[in-house]
Amino acid sequence: MQLENAVAIVTGSGSGIGRGIARHFAREGASLVVADVDPVRGEATVALIHGEGGEALFVPTDVTSSADIQRMVAAAVQRFGRLDVLVNNAGISPVGSVTETSEEEWDRCLAVGLKSVFLGCKYAIPAMVPNGGGAIVNIAGTLGLRGAPRKASYCAAKAGVVNLTRQMALDYGRSSVRVNCICPGFVDTPLTRSLPEPERQRAVGQLPIPRAATVDDVASAAVFLASSAAAYITGAVIVVDGGQTLSIPA
Ligand code: NAD
Repeated sequence: MQLENAVAIVTGSGSGIGRGIARHFAREGASLVVADVDPVRGEATVALIHGEGGEALFVPTDVTSSADIQRMVAAAVQRFGRLDVLVNNAGISPVGSVTETSEEEWDRCLAVGLKSVFLGCKYAIPAMVPNGGGAIVNIAGTLGLRGAPRKASYCAAKAGVVNLTRQMALDYGRSSVRVNCICPGFVDTPLTRSLPEPERQRAVGQLPIPRAATVDDVASAAVFLASSAAAYITGAVIVVDGGQTLSIPA
């Protein structure tokens, strides 16, 4: 068990990658706070974890709200006595170039995808430090490393997550808080399942590993970064993309 006795919060864990990470963490012995804005999906994740013999609590959380984030951290400490791991996973994926994107859509994408990471870390780190530190895993994306047509707000949010990860790693290493991020490529989740099949095929057919990532591909990287196996790793950007970002398209 790589996360035995650890207490972890995973935001956006009512679906997709977040749910996969929460379930993986629970199988590795962690107690989970499932934080999501959608109570039905969040409670469903808790039920899945309980069904597999794990420990989990749902805390309704809008990651753009400072009050909700503070309540989420307090709930973890109150229920499980400590906080060791925070996974900042919640995100939305709007489509649009700069001229197509309204100011409201821009603000929303940056709030859910980037401000949420600032708020999560701002309130989780002070809860980790008294117990000897902890680990933060941010879920960015390959669009934080490269551009993509008509993904203006999303690329900006994810690039912000990548560099905020490095910045925070500098500030909190001496407090024994490690901060790392994962950049998934194309992952098979409800978010990408809504795309038409030809578009999905275009996205994954030419990859060096010619398939979509599973949520488990991403979750196993998150388990590693959260565990003591990664004790000397901080500020790292782990790309889980089947080779998507390796070459310039021919
Ligand atoms: P998803 O849509 O399946 O799940 C996202 C979850 O976040 C949902 O349960 C939703 O209710 C929750 N959420 C949305 N807004 C929220 C808010 N304001 N507060 C709290 N929870 C909120 O998405 P996914 O595909 O699992 O993506 C998860 C993360 O991984 C996102 O940050 C996404 O950008 C990133 N990512 C996904 C892919 C992919 O191919 N699916 C690739 C790279 C990065």
